[in-house]
Amino acid sequence: MPEVTQNSLPDLTIHSTRVLTERGLKDMTLVIRKGKIEELLPGKQTLPDVPSEDVGNFLLMPGLIDSHVHVNEPGRTEWEGFETITRAAIAGGITTIVDMPLNSSPVTISANTFKEKLKSTQGKLYCNTGFWGGLVPGNAADLKELIETGVLGIKAFLTHSGIDEFPNVTEADLRIAMPSISDARIPLLVHAELEEPHAGIAAFEKNPSSYMAWLGSRPRSWEDKAVALMVGLCREFNCRVHIVHLSSSGSLEMLKKAKASGLPLTVETCPQYLYFCAEDIPDGNTLYKCAPPIREQENNERLWKALKEGIIDFVVTDHSPATPELKKIETGNLKEAWGGIASLQFSLPVMWTGARKQGFSLKEIAALMSANVASFIGYEYSKGLIKKGYDADLVVWDPNQQFKVDEKSIQFRHKLSPYTGETLYGEVKQTYVGGKKVYENGAVIGAPEGKLLLRQRN
Ligand SMILES: [Zn+2]
Repeated sequence: MPEVTQNSLPDLTIHSTRVLTERGLKDMTLVIRKGKIEELLPGKQTLPDVPSEDVGNFLLMPGLIDSHVHVNEPGRTEWEGFETITRAAIAGGITTIVDMPLNSSPVTISANTFKEKLKSTQGKLYCNTGFWGGLVPGNAADLKELIETGVLGIKAFLTHSGIDEFPNVTEADLRIAMPSISDARIPLLVHAELEEPHAGIAAFEKNPSSYMAWLGSRPRSWEDKAVALMVGLCREFNCRVHIVHLSSSGSLEMLKKAKASGLPLTVETCPQYLYFCAEDIPDGNTLYKCAPPIREQENNERLWKALKEGIIDFVVTDHSPATPELKKIETGNLKEAWGGIASLQFSLPVMWTGARKQGFSLKEIAALMSANVASFIGYEYSKGLIKKGYDADLVVWDPNQQFKVDEKSIQFRHKLSPYTGETLYGEVKQTYVGGKKVYENGAVIGAPEGKLLLRQRN
């Protein structure tokens, strides 16, 4: 036995009267050693010679995991980068992110480009960071080596991705690639929209600053057709399929049936599809532009219900920023503006503000924003729960405290977010990554010591 470990003292204890455990809220003290939760003690306790934190009645919860983040580094760091985004993450109680393969240059579509990406993270990660690889037409032969290098899964688009170096795939491309993705037992993440000509496209061209025209140009049927295609391929190849950023409620019944039949299918949606509704979005404001679009209130109410029923597995941001020039802030032209919403730092309060009105519990929010995402990325045995032996990735927050989103508090690169000025419930007080306090009351206080999350073989 390693005597050193036996004899050394724990690194820290943290007490809260409201620790969110698997058995609900408990008054407990966490004993932290070497980045992990070593022990859960009842009530308030301190240990001789061990530093202690007492956060009183603030909620102590597993840190959030956001598996849908466009970091854009290397190559497009003027849009966003690892340092700024991971600082924003910890300011929002997010302790792990997973980066999308497409907005960097080069795009992450081979083992070599993935190695370049890993290099670009050095000394910059304030939170743990994993990576998705990309499937594009013609790179199926490179997937095996890319997967072996440690990506957590493979992402593909069924419609134009916005990045020319990352073209979308067809059904034929998917058929070539899915056997190897299935063999690796990792998920295939799909942007599920299949474009079809219809009158709404020309109407939007004529009226490019109208939000309703933008919405009309990307109907629910595009998503529903793409989801139907992916459900069929999921069944045929017995390959894990994950629908990213579901916005159309028209797909829910089909997804419910497919999941009930035992298919390895998972689904995410994003805070913007739940918090906002199309009826309230002003024309000429490009901060709300994303694809698929934010839909009508009636649609979004059904997304909330699907979260409650487990048809949608979890909520992640799809944080996808760009420069103010590309966002066309000045002209308000929704057609020309980059599609993508910057929101990472505010996902917890945004979701909680909406969810408390919908009758969700704190335990449900923790599952939807942490434990369920941990399972999805293959880290369910070390992340997403406050449990003995689990990583001490934690958030301390006050679900009852309201605050106004202030541009000055934004840690991500460009202070452009549709949430600026919103009054939200749930201020983040402290964030711990690997047992170290890295954020407290508005200030990043830790060093960039986040870990790289590579695929765990099973
Ligand atoms: Zn995305």
